Amino acid sequence: MATAFPGEFAFIEWVKKDQPDNDSMLVGIGDDCAVLAPSSRATLVTTDMLMEGSCFRLAEAGPYRVGRKAMAVNISDIAAMAGTPKTAFVSLGLPQSMSFEDAKELHRGLQSMAGEFGVVIAGGDTNTWDGGLTISVTLLGEVIGRGAVLRNGAKPGDWIFVTGPLGGSILGHHLDFTPRVDFARRLHEQVKLHAMIDISDGLAKDLHRIVTASGVGAELEAINIPITDDARRMSAQNGKTALEHALGDGEDFELAFTVSEEDGKQLLETYPPDRSTLRMIGRIVESGFWLLDGGHRHVLAPVGYEHHFGQSTE
Ligand SMILES: [Mg+2]
Repeated sequence: MATAFPGEFAFIEWVKKDQPDNDSMLVGIGDDCAVLAPSSRATLVTTDMLMEGSCFRLAEAGPYRVGRKAMAVNISDIAAMAGTPKTAFVSLGLPQSMSFEDAKELHRGLQSMAGEFGVVIAGGDTNTWDGGLTISVTLLGEVIGRGAVLRNGAKPGDWIFVTGPLGGSILGHHLDFTPRVDFARRLHEQVKLHAMIDISDGLAKDLHRIVTASGVGAELEAINIPITDDARRMSAQNGKTALEHALGDGEDFELAFTVSEEDGKQLLETYPPDRSTLRMIGRIVESGFWLLDGGHRHVLAPVGYEHHFGQSTE
């Protein structure tokens, strides 16, 4: 039988026990603050909060996968800047009904995803309450080589790429994805990435953020947008097209980015479609947001997932 949750202090004591180290952490969990060594590179900071009912269902996903996702969504944001993730801070609102074993599993999930990317958990806060499970992760990272890749650098004539197939992540991918840290770093070392974003709210919506930040437009080619089998599966059931799923579903956690045409050609030689998931899906234009489909140019709506205030998530 699961043991009752013994309290925050016992949990923190347990978490402290086998914390790995890294070169940037001088003092980790257990003091009033963590102490981090200064870095010669600029620091990236991101934070993301997951809430039971909105971002996951604990009973379906289980605490281990939820822990992995909470860490992975933050690592994906560091990937979106072509950076290296380093140090995480984890704040938990644990439901009073949660067992000690489930809390440990949650932490093991956070820890396992962190470990795969050399990230250490250097601190955080743990509370119990009578609401659902809430996990907030703050992640620090470092820029590499050419510096952080922002959203505002896309230029007319750029080619637009995505790092993998899109859509239907609700069938499981949203819990089990691998953040594209390594791919982003390799791309960033090879060519000059003009603008980049991780696809958390859907391709159309997230690409529209690049377009808006850069003051440009975009033209996507429907035939070149890579679609997951899960998007096809959902399409067969709900009547939405697989392309609509690829354009509008959230939580793919692939990267969308733009490069010059010349660099784009080079990338297609390095990552040919038969040996890579990288796809060229369109071009940056002066203005507008367009989808080329079957010889027609349609206005593309920046559809996607959005948190709405004052509405039930049920
Ligand atoms: Mg992001």
